Amino acid sequence: MKNLLKKIAVMALLSAVMISCSKKNDISTDPETETTQNQKVLAYIKNLGFTDAQIVDSGDNYVVDGDIVFNKKMEVPADYGKAITEQYYNGYIVTNSNNIRVKIDPSITSMTSEINSAINQWNTVPNSKIKFVITTGTVYDILIKVDNTIGGSTCGQAYLSTSNGKAGNTVWINQALIQNNSFAQRTRTITHEFGHTISFKHTNQSTTTNVPGVGGTDAQSLMNGGQCGSGATVLSAKDKQATAVLYPL
Ligand SMILES: [Zn+2]
Repeated sequence: MKNLLKKIAVMALLSAVMISCSKKNDISTDPETETTQNQKVLAYIKNLGFTDAQIVDSGDNYVVDGDIVFNKKMEVPADYGKAITEQYYNGYIVTNSNNIRVKIDPSITSMTSEINSAINQWNTVPNSKIKFVITTGTVYDILIKVDNTIGGSTCGQAYLSTSNGKAGNTVWINQALIQNNSFAQRTRTITHEFGHTISFKHTNQSTTTNVPGVGGTDAQSLMNGGQCGSGATVLSAKDKQATAVLYPL
């Protein structure tokens, strides 16, 4: 009798496990579809000039070259192979570049001065129509927020602009990491991440091509990657030139 009871208990336990397993399968995405989609996104990232060594799998996203984020569920543009020919930008110009609405998430209101200063750098580039504007409304193009879980030595992360002309819609700032930096360096981080949202990649990326007419390396570029807390704090002459080329008046 005892044995029979034991058996029943084990059976019940097993079926409970099986039910919870199948339940889990029901809610998760089809693994095969996920792989194909992931492969598509990876191929797209590599086409932008990044190497396997620069791509880090971080759950829902791929993070490239430290701080450029690609959502695994992103819609991969059908014609991306043709879209990038000569640049250190991703080939996708933001359509409403004279009115890019930035919403400041409550998590980062303490850095509003730095955000305003970063925006001012982009907005005052000569011969360029780029204008970031702060909005408190519910409609916005970019949400800037704190994410202290980015980890390591990464000051911030951002999405690049998209193939349908939208600015990268999120900037994450590692406030815990940068809060002891100087005001100028905190502003640099934010200016740099905003640069990604309007299509700029890293100027010092090894496998990159140039914005037309604005080629070559540039030690003064604020868009150099991997320089958290130590890089240029103002847009360089070439950064400004490239901005004016991509977003002319
Ligand atoms: Zn970057």
